[in-house]
Amino acid sequence: MQATIAIHGGAGTIPAAALDADAAAGYHAALRDALDAGWRVLARGGPALDAVTDAVIKLENDPLFNAARGAVFTAARTLEMDAAVMCGRDRSAGAVAGICGPRNPILGARAVMEHSGTVLMMGAGAEAYLRSQGLEFMPPEYFTTQRRLDALNLELARRVAGAPDVRSDADRHGTVGAVARDIFGDLAAGTSTGGITAKRPGRVGDTPVIGAGTYADNTTCAVSTTGTGEGFIRFTAAAEIAARMRYAKQSLEQAANDVVAELLTHGGDGGLIAIGSAGLPVMPFNSSGMYRGYVGPDGVVHTAIHREGFR
Ligand code: ASP
Repeated sequence: MQATIAIHGGAGTIPAAALDADAAAGYHAALRDALDAGWRVLARGGPALDAVTDAVIKLENDPLFNAARGAVFTAARTLEMDAAVMCGRDRSAGAVAGICGPRNPILGARAVMEHSGTVLMMGAGAEAYLRSQGLEFMPPEYFTTQRRLDALNLELARRVAGAPDVRSDADRHGTVGAVARDIFGDLAAGTSTGGITAKRPGRVGDTPVIGAGTYADNTTCAVSTTGTGEGFIRFTAAAEIAARMRYAKQSLEQAANDVVAELLTHGGDGGLIAIGSAGLPVMPFNSSGMYRGYVGPDGVVHTAIHREGFR
């Protein structure tokens, strides 16, 4: 079986015209770094689950992306993070919602999957459980960045003024995610996010909802999504791709492209990365861009941001 990995750093991209060459180079380097981390696992014959975990950890640690360090704020100036992982071999899954504390929420999702006997844990109960599991915790300052505070303040002022919402996708939202296939043919998916800037406290997006923002099943595909989560939840976006493959016998590419196109008409702007049991990953998006990249069986790293070709 040929191993492959794909990642995304969210559909909340800085508009192409506003992204200078240095900033673009920074995003490409961060994506490359995450792909390298995931590929290292696959290249030594390691499991897809470890590859997606390691890739997502790199993206969570990088303040460029809206996940863990660099997460966006709620309207109450708090941080509420969501994350999920899923293993395609046995459909084991774990997710956390509305947490702030673990340095890497993706490790929280994994701990829920591997040790809790549950699938989805939220808020204070999840945080207490993850502490008991020995996860590394960080204070809110660690996750805080000036860029996200500025975006929050702008949005809160806009709401007070009743002005139209003309923010770029970059000020609105973002997410990180990875999907991988290992040499044994096992698929895995992982996703992590701070959600939407100035979201209602308690709001949970698609990321930790299995079948909406994160999904993996060896017989069809592994999927990680990014975009306005409500649309993806209503559309059960990730599971819908698997269903079209399973029942309508569509190819991964056709199912993923069609779902992303249809999502737009249901308020789901954004995109996703997906892999099947063979072939290269697919990465459709209906937004202006999506930080993304992949490594195919040849081991070469490819990254892209908007609609240009891969580097
Ligand atoms: N899907 C995420 C959410 O709704 C945000 C994003 O991917 O941009 O929480």
